[in-house]
Amino acid sequence: MRSLAATEVLKLWEAGRHQRPAHRALTVLGMGYPELSPDRLAMLEVGARDARLFAMREKTFGDALDVFVECPHCGRELQLTLSTEELLVEAVDAGGSVGAQQIEIADYSICFRLPNSGDLAAVTDVDDVEDARRMLATRCLLSTTHNGRPIPADGLPDPVVREVEQRIEALDPQADVVIDLHCPDCEHRWDAVFDIASFFWAELQSCAQRLLREVHVLAKAYGWSEPEILSLTPARRRRYLSMVC
Ligand SMILES: [Zn+2]
Repeated sequence: MRSLAATEVLKLWEAGRHQRPAHRALTVLGMGYPELSPDRLAMLEVGARDARLFAMREKTFGDALDVFVECPHCGRELQLTLSTEELLVEAVDAGGSVGAQQIEIADYSICFRLPNSGDLAAVTDVDDVEDARRMLATRCLLSTTHNGRPIPADGLPDPVVREVEQRIEALDPQADVVIDLHCPDCEHRWDAVFDIASFFWAELQSCAQRLLREVHVLAKAYGWSEPEILSLTPARRRRYLSMVC
């Protein structure tokens, strides 16, 4: 894993800007992990996907993550700086796949696996959150029986599906990173989900916009081509920019 080059950031921005979030996360990972095939990336459990996104983000933009949130009680805007270490449950390659899990709930016997990136991509067009959660859990059911008789996955009662969803969340904590927040103005405390995929994408987008502006200014001033400008080190680019702005 290495830092993304300027040309790679622009390629990602072009490829990902019209994609839905789950597909976009796979596009980003494909740039950072070219040794892994698209199928292999799609098979990564969501926590494993996110651990790799954290690693890519740290190599490209550093360890500190500046987060801006609004207090839901008084509306104050808060800025806090988190670190990759705080948000990473375990090292990228520390854990392998959790694999198939067998559980018994009342008279139901269920074998399931954890959702992977491909599953997230498959439910990305489902607008209703509850429908998407149920569809995601149902995709991960490998076998379901009731009193020893096989039943279809969509025949499970809602409470049983919710129990499976809870087991999935407990088994893949990296997939659902929650941060504790506190407002110094009104003392309100609340939890918020930190989604590395959308956070990293927002940074890549603003980085791409900045690079495009830099290319525009330097090309106009010196007549250099886009590849020539992007091949400059960031320090040289900044120096030339300071001379023409
Ligand atoms: Zn507040």
